Amino acid sequence: MTSQTTPTRAAFDDVMVPTYAPGGFIPVRGKGSRVWDQAGREYLDLAGGIAVSSIGHAHPAAINALTTQAGKIWHVANVLANEPAILLAQRLCELTFGERVFFANSGAEANEAALKLARRHACVHHPRAHSGTNTAAGTYESDKFEIISFNDSFHGRTLFTVTVGGQAKYTEGYAPLPQGITHLPFNDLDAVRAHLSANTCAVIVEPVQGEAGVLPATREFLKGLRELCDQHQALLIFDEVQSGAGRTGPLFAYMECGVVPDILTSAKGLGGGFPIGAMLTTEHIARSFGVGAHGSTFGGNALACAVALGVLEVLAAPATRVNTTARSAQLMAGLTAINQQHKIFTALRGSGLWFGCELIPAWHGRAKEFVKMSEKHALMILVAGVDTLRLAPSLLITEEDVVIGLQRFEVAIAEMLATESVAAK
Ligand code: PLP
Repeated sequence: MTSQTTPTRAAFDDVMVPTYAPGGFIPVRGKGSRVWDQAGREYLDLAGGIAVSSIGHAHPAAINALTTQAGKIWHVANVLANEPAILLAQRLCELTFGERVFFANSGAEANEAALKLARRHACVHHPRAHSGTNTAAGTYESDKFEIISFNDSFHGRTLFTVTVGGQAKYTEGYAPLPQGITHLPFNDLDAVRAHLSANTCAVIVEPVQGEAGVLPATREFLKGLRELCDQHQALLIFDEVQSGAGRTGPLFAYMECGVVPDILTSAKGLGGGFPIGAMLTTEHIARSFGVGAHGSTFGGNALACAVALGVLEVLAAPATRVNTTARSAQLMAGLTAINQQHKIFTALRGSGLWFGCELIPAWHGRAKEFVKMSEKHALMILVAGVDTLRLAPSLLITEEDVVIGLQRFEVAIAEMLATESVAAK
């Protein structure tokens, strides 16, 4: 193959490190919740690029923000300030509890910043009692370095964030791992009460666990975490990389759970498909990161921030919330009807435009087969683990597209069940 020929799906396996096993078609164009492949076949997108395409494909506001900035300036690095980064940070601070913002390029990097900030904050405010010679490094020693995280959580793939995440399979083969991290059962406040101590610098939690299957934290759990963190002077970090950017309805999930974190991380839907991550915190906590304490060449890139600002205005518009609520109810009603017909799910969890459909035990381990079957019926869906199907469509998906998506989903499920019953004969 020369670089001039049309790339094929088979060529992907020839040139890529085999960390992914993508589906059988290559999308080349998208509009709203529709996507077209190389052959011009149209697909209905209920996957949203894993909760990233928050305002759908090729939204005019995103295109306008991108193309306008593209003709101005793309990148200056952080040796200089740039206008879109300042404007985006200002807007994020207006819309949230945040008073200071650190920009990164992904969710993992936003979390890496949050976790490093929590450790640094402990060093600044709870330094280890001095024993030896007074070195500059000694200023940054603390016994308050422990991080509490939760089983099945997901926080990214850098070595630190993957270790903080609560899924052991993702750290296999990467030892030695960062130390001082404890994983506890999700939604189990007693377990946290038993472990959280003066040595804890932070608790990191997803208000709704995404990769684990769209599992919401209870309000009592989040409130309890806030109280325990306050009691022990630990920071509470909400990883809203997947639950944020309007996914559950409000701009960020914390806004409706009665708890304000100390640090919040965002990515995915924030850029609507353009890579960007952000860590939000208070002015007081931000001060623990002095000049040079952390950084990123591309973090705060002008082009990325301009796009995210355009996307954010759409996400923050009341009409987006109205559509999310209406389409959420429509999808839940449709999924419930499908389940009444086929009895394929043990649980249907929904939060805004985000659904986890947990398969009955007979289908455990086979979630990916449903993705493949959906692809056959021109529908894009996701898995969360091996037992749960996940939907995370555009927050602007239309009523008509939900109807079409549900129809195709039903057909795909019916064919899965029919294939199985034929095989059993
Ligand atoms: N945190 C959560 C809750 C996520 O769902 C993800 C990705 O799925 C991440 C962090 C990592 O984000 P990224 O893949 O952009 O590094």
